[in-house]
Amino acid sequence: MTQCKFCAHFLRGEGDMPGECYRFPPAPLSDDDAFVCVRPVVDGEDKACGEFRGNQ
Ligand code: SF4
Repeated sequence: MTQCKFCAHFLRGEGDMPGECYRFPPAPLSDDDAFVCVRPVVDGEDKACGEFRGNQ
């Protein structure tokens, strides 16, 4: 099974933090008071998705 940690789009998190997926631009997320852009949070052990790209 291929995992996110082997994908070129995966950015490893610091320490015990999960990683992030950089396949696509960050998505806007807002509530009544704030507006931020976020990337999907993924764990390196997660099963890779269909956008997986192997590292060379
Ligand atoms: S396998 Fe998919 S979700 Fe995981 S880091 Fe790569 S593109 Fe992102």
